[in-house]
Amino acid sequence: MALLETHEIEVFYGDFQAVFGIDVSVEEGETVAIIGANGAGKSSFLNALAGITPSKPDAITLDGKPVGGTPAYEMVKKGIALVPEGRKLYPSLTVEENLLIGADGKTVDRGWNLDEIYRLFPILKERAKQMSTTLSGGQQQQVSIGRALMANPKVLLCDEISLGLAPTIVKDVYAAVKEIQARGTTVLLVEQDLSAALGAADRVYCFMEGRVTLTGRPDELTKDQIQHAYFGMS
Ligand code: ATP
Repeated sequence: MALLETHEIEVFYGDFQAVFGIDVSVEEGETVAIIGANGAGKSSFLNALAGITPSKPDAITLDGKPVGGTPAYEMVKKGIALVPEGRKLYPSLTVEENLLIGADGKTVDRGWNLDEIYRLFPILKERAKQMSTTLSGGQQQQVSIGRALMANPKVLLCDEISLGLAPTIVKDVYAAVKEIQARGTTVLLVEQDLSAALGAADRVYCFMEGRVTLTGRPDELTKDQIQHAYFGMS
């Protein structure tokens, strides 16, 4: 049994359907990436897992138990924490205050605390008392990842953590994802930056127009397969 599974999950915005019956599974300790073009339904899918957009109870299982439709503040307590698209830091709070807010979702200690976050991202310790808005984009992304880790999740969801960052900074952010996985945290990420996603993931799913068009290990997939699955071209 996989740690996290979706079963024919659907996402609607009113009458508009963004996700059409998707099955994804994530094993404990894995890093899984969802790739796909703008509007493919990646964020809608991830937001359903985080409890931000509604889903049916049986559509999501965590450790085999149905958790679909659980509101976000409860989902994090069950073990699913989200690094949202665009970081969404609290601008009126310091770096450390932003991190500490993440601990509100903690119900079990899986080894993540302020010291461990500062070990992962040493610059944040130096900037701990600064307002989060004074940090660079890459540093703000570190705070957003750290805040989600402070909940000590079973699964860390990351939505487009490369967005708006220079290529060298994207490399640093993804080196941190490797380190997070090495410390035992399972990661499910959504990413438009193909090389970042393929470099970080044990397995990838490609979404197009709300459906899975390809799945496999990065080393098994050809460029042509990915291009076809991504854009629908032959
Ligand atoms: P992006 O990288 O642009 O975020 P994505 O793959 O994450 O793309 P989604 O953001 O999940 O895709 O969007 C999937 C579809 O759902 C799109 O057609 C989008 O316009 C629509 N959509 C997303 N959010 C909403 C919303 N709040 N209300 C209505 N439609 C929405």
